[in-house]
Amino acid sequence: MYSDVVMEVGKKYFEELIDKMKAEKGVTQDVELDADDLKELATQFKAEYKAKIGADFPDDPKEQLMGAVMAVFRSWDNPRANVYRRDNDIPYSWGTAVNVQSMAFGNMGDDCGTGVAFTRDPATGEKKLMGEFLTNAQGEDVVAGVRTPMPIAQMAEKFPEAFAQFKDVCATLENHYRDMQDMEFTVEHGKLYMLQTRNGKRTAQAALKIACDLVDEGMRTEKEAVAMIDPRNLDTLLHPQFDTAALKAATPIGKGLGASPGAACGKIVFTAEDAEAWNARGEKVVLVRLETSPEDITGMKASQGILTVRGGMTSHAAVVARGMGTCCVSGCGDIAMDEENKKFTLAGKEFHEGDWLSIDGSTGNIYDGAIATKDAEIAGEFGRIMAWADENRRLKVRTNADTPADAKKARELGAEGIGLCRTEHMFFEEDRIAAFREMICADTVEEREAALDKILPYQQGDFKALYEALEGCPVTIRFLDPPLHEFVPTEEDDIKKLADAQGKSVEDIKALIASLHEFNPMMGHRGCRLAVTYPEIAKMQTKAVIRAAIEVQAAHPDWNVKPEIMIPLVCEIKELKFVKKVVVETADAEIAAAGVKLEYEVGTMIEIPRAALTADEIATEADFFCFGTNDLTQMTFGFSRDDAGKFLNAYYDTKIFENDPFAKLDQTGVGKLMEMAIKLGKPVNPNLHIGICGEHGGDPSSVEFCHKIGLDYVSCSPFRVPIARLAAAQAAIAEG
Ligand code: PEP
Ligand code: MG
Repeated sequence: MYSDVVMEVGKKYFEELIDKMKAEKGVTQDVELDADDLKELATQFKAEYKAKIGADFPDDPKEQLMGAVMAVFRSWDNPRANVYRRDNDIPYSWGTAVNVQSMAFGNMGDDCGTGVAFTRDPATGEKKLMGEFLTNAQGEDVVAGVRTPMPIAQMAEKFPEAFAQFKDVCATLENHYRDMQDMEFTVEHGKLYMLQTRNGKRTAQAALKIACDLVDEGMRTEKEAVAMIDPRNLDTLLHPQFDTAALKAATPIGKGLGASPGAACGKIVFTAEDAEAWNARGEKVVLVRLETSPEDITGMKASQGILTVRGGMTSHAAVVARGMGTCCVSGCGDIAMDEENKKFTLAGKEFHEGDWLSIDGSTGNIYDGAIATKDAEIAGEFGRIMAWADENRRLKVRTNADTPADAKKARELGAEGIGLCRTEHMFFEEDRIAAFREMICADTVEEREAALDKILPYQQGDFKALYEALEGCPVTIRFLDPPLHEFVPTEEDDIKKLADAQGKSVEDIKALIASLHEFNPMMGHRGCRLAVTYPEIAKMQTKAVIRAAIEVQAAHPDWNVKPEIMIPLVCEIKELKFVKKVVVETADAEIAAAGVKLEYEVGTMIEIPRAALTADEIATEADFFCFGTNDLTQMTFGFSRDDAGKFLNAYYDTKIFENDPFAKLDQTGVGKLMEMAIKLGKPVNPNLHIGICGEHGGDPSSVEFCHKIGLDYVSCSPFRVPIARLAAAQAAIAEG
């Protein structure tokens, strides 16, 4: 332990010496070694230490203690800690502390032991003492999963007095902290010592159940219950489960502990590095290990599921996977592992790297091959907590959805509208892309209009389906945004097809494609610039929006269908005026021709710093602002949103950044621009409604910021809607 943690040489060499000694003595457990064996081992350890470190093992306790203290302080800065902090929004500046306390020994004989316990089941939330205990052992033995511990209930038989006292302590601690406790304790010669207690990590299901139970038990208010749930944790509730029929047809080939719920199916990998590498090339993987250690964190994150041979419910793999919301089955001792040759045997079959495996983190079952998974069904306490959250939040939550299916899912998850429909995603289907390419290749306005006319009915149908899915809730439709080169064919066959359809030569089409090349397309011919050069695109999209709205309004007179048309990438008031004129003339003509009444709005994204800086001008023409913080972040930092990943790691390593500004809103810089835009825009146009639809709209700390600066809504991907609802409520509750 000292060599590993303090001197950082790794424990492998010392483990090898113990394993060798156990093999020589014909025993399997460390505790089966006798005093002479241990004396011999100590001599071997000291020699190994000297060989590795180049100095004698220190026998001055003060030197040892200071070494240990320094190791704890150092640990704040190791790569694992940096990853963990980034995942959990913990600032580096907090630093860490060291407690020095005298040792209680759990390994001084059979009247000693050590354990880890939770006051409620951290997997389900059920109110019952849950934990593990090992006689004649130290805490590390339980946590490392080297020996498989016994359930806590058996402690009552071995140590009735200490166990009774322990149960009292559990009740005292829960009542004091008003939350589920995760405790470590030692029994030394029959006497109980509490080593530590903390609010226990738990699955999303358990978090919801515990919060509701604490309200029912009168320990917490509804507001406090809402504040107790980590919004990011909800993600795991929304994760896939096995398809019931497929699961029925499958027979488990083994069983471990259901350590972290959810279903996972992937190709077997044996190392954390492989998990990362395979994941990076788009493979789904299940990481199979003897046991995991903190070095494996990034590989575990890259895995669909984790399966370990050793370890209990409180082993590293179990605790970490639960925290991540990753499915985990731990302690499947039936696996005969050959890590070196990347294979294992289970139920008489040899499994190799790349073979498919499915695991169930709730039952602990392991299945040969791939079992289909399906979306989670949310029920029970989720609804109660969400209802309390909704009672407390001020921010509305919309969704970014481009298809009726996504919109429907988002509605089920509580979305109150669409904040962003990226219309370009609708152009990629077979018939449409052909027409769109015709539009791009057209030489005249008339030709362009003819091509767009072919797309119009499709767009109208799409918008109609969206309005229907949203049942009268607001729908913001953003006009075409990406550079045109994204739509042109790249394959020789497709180029030929296009040339034939256009009556042009392949060379002509290739020349046209080459002419669309841009050195910096993200800052090129995209967004409203497309509508400035080709107003007929905006015209077609306006017709589709208005016609769809008229149809749906007529079919549902009780709904209030009020289209919100959003112009992207505006940086100058005159740009917005120009495009808005096209939209308004087209829309008004459509409405007049239909002889109906229909209100609509024209707004803009604020995603270029200049738009934020001139928001007082832009607000005179805009019915609403919606912050496109993906682009606003890109353009404020000058970091390409597509390439920043390549160098951001260096920024984390050097502590220049603690977070990815594309995931967590940069409140200092980008946030300042947002605040400025609101302050400038609102007085000019008091009816201006303001939202956000960049990825940050589903990130809890960013949602909190959006609440504080007074946005009307956040918009995020469907599965993040519950996270945003909860985060919005927490922001309002924290504000009081
Ligand atoms: C944005 O820039 O934040 C945005 C929502 O638009 P897109 O991601 O489509 O550029
Ligand atoms: Mg954008």
